[in-house]
Amino acid sequence: MRSHHCNQLRESHVGETVTLIGWVNSARDHGGVIFIDLRDREGLTQCVFHPEENPEVAKLSHTLREEDVVQVTGVVSKRLEGTTNDRIGTGAIEITAKQLNIVNKADVLPFQLDKELSNEDIRMKYRYLDLRRPRMNKNIRLRSVITSAARRFLDESGFYEIETPILSNPTPEGARDFLVPSRLNPGRFYALPQAPQQYKQLMMVAGLEKYYQIARCFRDEDLRADRQPEFTQIDLEASFVNQDDIIALVEGLLASMFKTGLGLDVPTPFPRMTYQDAMDIYGSDKPDTRYDIKITDLGDVFAATEFKIFRGTLDSGGVVRAINAKGFACVTTGQMNRLNEIAIQAGLPVKTLAFIKKENGEFKSPLWKFFTDAEKDALVAKMNIEEGDIVFFGAGARDTVSTILGRVRTECADMLELTKDSKAYNFLWVVDFPLLAHDEETGEWVAVHHPFTRPNAEDVAKLEAGDYANVRACAYDVVLNGYELGGGSIRIHEKDLQAKMFEVLGVGPEEQEIKFGHILDAFRFGAPPHGGLALGLDRIAMLAAGEDSIREVIAFPKNNKGADLMAHSPCQIDFKQLREVYVQSTWKDPKAAAPAAAPQ
Ligand code: ASP
Repeated sequence: MRSHHCNQLRESHVGETVTLIGWVNSARDHGGVIFIDLRDREGLTQCVFHPEENPEVAKLSHTLREEDVVQVTGVVSKRLEGTTNDRIGTGAIEITAKQLNIVNKADVLPFQLDKELSNEDIRMKYRYLDLRRPRMNKNIRLRSVITSAARRFLDESGFYEIETPILSNPTPEGARDFLVPSRLNPGRFYALPQAPQQYKQLMMVAGLEKYYQIARCFRDEDLRADRQPEFTQIDLEASFVNQDDIIALVEGLLASMFKTGLGLDVPTPFPRMTYQDAMDIYGSDKPDTRYDIKITDLGDVFAATEFKIFRGTLDSGGVVRAINAKGFACVTTGQMNRLNEIAIQAGLPVKTLAFIKKENGEFKSPLWKFFTDAEKDALVAKMNIEEGDIVFFGAGARDTVSTILGRVRTECADMLELTKDSKAYNFLWVVDFPLLAHDEETGEWVAVHHPFTRPNAEDVAKLEAGDYANVRACAYDVVLNGYELGGGSIRIHEKDLQAKMFEVLGVGPEEQEIKFGHILDAFRFGAPPHGGLALGLDRIAMLAAGEDSIREVIAFPKNNKGADLMAHSPCQIDFKQLREVYVQSTWKDPKAAAPAAAPQ
C-alpha cells in the first residue's frame, strides 16, 4: 500500500514518484492550495494539493479532516526556501500530490490528539486514539526496544526462554491471588501466578540451568502509579550461581537495555549498600541517591543532654537523628502541614515534626532553648546548618525514625524539585536484607522476600536458635532513582532447610505437604544450588521513558480501581455462565431495592 513510510523521504529522493498511507495529522488551506501533514507511526510528511495542476484531486483534498486515513501518490519535491521545517526528518521535502485515495473517513474525535489531556478516564476509554499521540507511540516503541534488548542479552548469555502456566496455584508472594474457577474440576480453582517463582526453581531441578521469561504476573492489591493488577517481569533463574554472579548478570542486562533504548552508558558495577545502611542513611530500602540529603545520627551530640524527650529516647535505647533540607527554611505553612501529615503516616507519635531553621542569621526552633551552647555548636557543625537551611529531627525507635525521616527526605526533595531536571540514572544494589519480619498485628514471622529465599550461611545458626530478627537473607534488590526495579535471591535447595523455613513461617507439616509438597519433593532428588531475580519491566520502561506512571508505558492498562474503561472489564457474568463453573455470586448491590430472584 505504500512505497515509503512517513519519516523516510529526504532530499535525495527528490523527483521520485512515491506512495504514502497514513492519517491526516493536520490539513491547512493556503489560498486554495491544501497542505496536509500525513502521519504514520514513523513520523510526518507534508503533502501538497495544487488546484491548478490537478483540479480533481485538489477538490477531493478539500474534504479531508483530521484522522482520515488516506493514501497519497505524488512526486517528492524540494520545499521552497524559507518553508523547510527542521523539526521533522522529512522537513526538507514535500509530496506534490497526483492521486488521493480516501481510505477511511474519521468522525470528530472525542479529544484533540495534539493536546495533553488531564482527564485520564477519557484517555483510557479511547485508548486506541490516545496511543496515536507521538508521546505514547514513542513510549510503546521504547518498551519494545528495551524488551528485545533484554531478550537478546539473555539469549546471548545462554538463557532459555521458557513459558510457565498462567493457570496455576496460589503463590506466597505476599499479595492476594486472582482466582479462576475450573469447570472440569467442580469446586476447584486455579490462581493466576503472582510470579513464576516455584516453576522457575523446578526448572533448575529439571537441569535447564538458565531460564528467563517475559512473564505476566497478577497480584490483587491496592493500586498506585507504579502498580497494576497485571504487570510484566523479566523473570530469570540460574543454577550453580552465587549472589555476585546474578548481580553481574543483571548489571549487564540493565546496561544493555538502557544502552539500546536510550543510548546511555550505564557504568557498572553498581554501588552496593546493605539494607541496614540504606535504612539508616536514607530511611528507605530503595534510596534515591540523586540528592545528598542524608540521615545523620546525633547520639554523640546529645549524649549528655538534659532535654527530656531526647534524654528519654536515648536512655531507652532509641535514636535521635536528623536531616538537613538545605535551603528549605522558606518552607510554606502548607508544605509544613503536608510534611507533618507524611511524618504522622510514617509513624510520628506527635502532631508536628521537630525542626530548627536558620534565617537572617538566627536559629528558629521550638527546641533551640532546650540545648546547651556546646550542644548547639556540635549540632550546627555536625548537620552543617547554614543560612536558609532547615533541619528535621526524629527521636524514637531506630526503624521508626528511619521511616519517618526517609519519607520527609523524599517529600522535601520533591518540594525543592531537586530531581526535576536531573539526567542522572543512579542504579544501586541493596543487599543483606533481613530474612524475616515480625508482623505486629498477627504476631507471626513473615518472609521479607519470599519463603524460598536462602538465609545467609553465617546466620543459619541464628535461625536454628530462634533469633529470627537477626537472620540476614541472600537477597538483593536493584534500585534506580528511588524505585525498586527488581529483586531476587539465592534460594534454599535443601528439603530440610526449606521445611524449617516453612515451619518458622507457621506453615505446619500438613499444610506444607498440601501446598508445597511438589517443591519439597523435588528437593529430594538432587536439586542444584540456584538463584535468580525478577525485574519489573513496566517500571524500567517508565523510568527510561521519563514518565511517572507505569500506565504511560502499558498499551492497555487498568485504572486505579483495576478497571479497563475501554473494554469494560471487569464485567458482570450472567448466571448461566457462572453456573457452568459452579460459582454463585454472594455480592449484593447495596443500592438495589430488593434482591433479584435467582432464575430457576
Ligand atoms: N519471584 C520474585 C518476585 O516476584 C523474584 C525472585 O525472587 O526471583 O518478587
